[in-house]
Order: sequence, then C-alpha cells, then structure tokens
Amino acid sequence: MLEQILADMQKADKEWNVILLRYFNPIGAHKSGTMGENPNGIPNNLMPYITQVAVGKLKELGVFGNDYDTPDGTGVRDYIHVVDLAVGHVKALKKIEENVGLGIYNLGTGVGYSVLDIVKNFEEATGVKIPYVIKERRAGDIAACYSDASKAKRELGWEAQNGIKEMCADSWRWQSNNPNGYED
Ligand code: UDP
Repeated sequence: MLEQILADMQKADKEWNVILLRYFNPIGAHKSGTMGENPNGIPNNLMPYITQVAVGKLKELGVFGNDYDTPDGTGVRDYIHVVDLAVGHVKALKKIEENVGLGIYNLGTGVGYSVLDIVKNFEEATGVKIPYVIKERRAGDIAACYSDASKAKRELGWEAQNGIKEMCADSWRWQSNNPNGYED
C-alpha cells in the first residue's frame, strides 16, 4: 500500500524522487555484538527464536511445516544480513540525488535457505545445538520467497557481502552478549 501511495505521489508531482526498497528476511546483527534484534515477548521470526533457544530462554524451535514443495519440505526464504540492508539504504540515498523519479529495488541475496538449512548453519557457525520439533504450517506462510537482486547491483552498485555463516555468527554474538536484549 505504501509503495502505491508513494508511486502515485511521484507520478502526480515530478519534483519528487522516490526509491522503494523491498526487504527480504533481515537477520544478523552489528559485528560489535552491541546492536541487534530485541523482540518484545516470544519472537515471531525465525532467527530471534533460534537465538533465544540457543541462549536457553526457550526450550525448542517449532518448525512450521515440513510438507511444503521445497527441497526438504520446510519454508525457504532469502535471508539478508541487517548491515548489508543498511548499506543498501546508503546506496539508495546516493542514487536519489541523481533525480531518479521512481526506483524500485529488491534487497536480498538471491539465495533461498530452508528453516532446516538455517538451523544447520546456525549450529555450524556457533557450535550450539538447536533442538526442534515439526509443527503445523503457520497460517499465511508461503513455501518459498527469494529475490532477484540484480537490479540493485546494476543500478545502485549494491550487493550483499555477508553470507549465511556471518548472519548466524553475528546474530549469536549479539544474543549471547545480551541475553535480555537492551533490558540490562
Ligand atoms: N518459522 C518457523 N518457526 C518459527 C518462526 C518461523 O518454522 O518459530 C519459519 C516460517 O514458517 C518461515 C521462515 O521460518 O518459513 C521465516 O519466517 P519469519 O517469520 O522469520 O519471516 P517471514 O518470511 O514469515 O516474514
């Protein structure tokens, strides 16, 4: 809806320049381990749930469905390191100075990982075991969602630098240094 409003506004008044950034699944944290995700209550998203299991705040991960039409049956998403996402914004701010009119860019890695791929990569990156149980599908979830980020590379000169191992290690550094987020 916001994309439509901003695109209409730019169409009606050409003095505006608008860049719309489509985020895929941001995870990870700042490499310092001092800034990261701090969800209220029980996390809804996969990575904060995994890190809270790893730190001992939650018993086990519930995997929402293993009967999707994907290689291992679990949902596939395009995870992107939050710092790469931030750099994408800086590149977009530079681009907007060229009077782009309307620009729309996907910010993702273009690579899809399943829920079980994330569990495996997290365990390999951190040495911490993540117990999990298979649960029912979550209402509203689709089987797979990943980007074609080639336009952002071509036009913004932006490309994600961090892979899944860095995303997992950085999420864990943040959570293990700050088990209660920003509370203490
Ligand atoms: N997921 C899961 N257990 C959880 C949270 C998420 O199995 O506790 C799965 C979810 O079904 C999806 C993927 O992990 O396939 C990413 O979910 P998330 O909520 O992080 O992001 P979404 O893609 O839904 O915005």
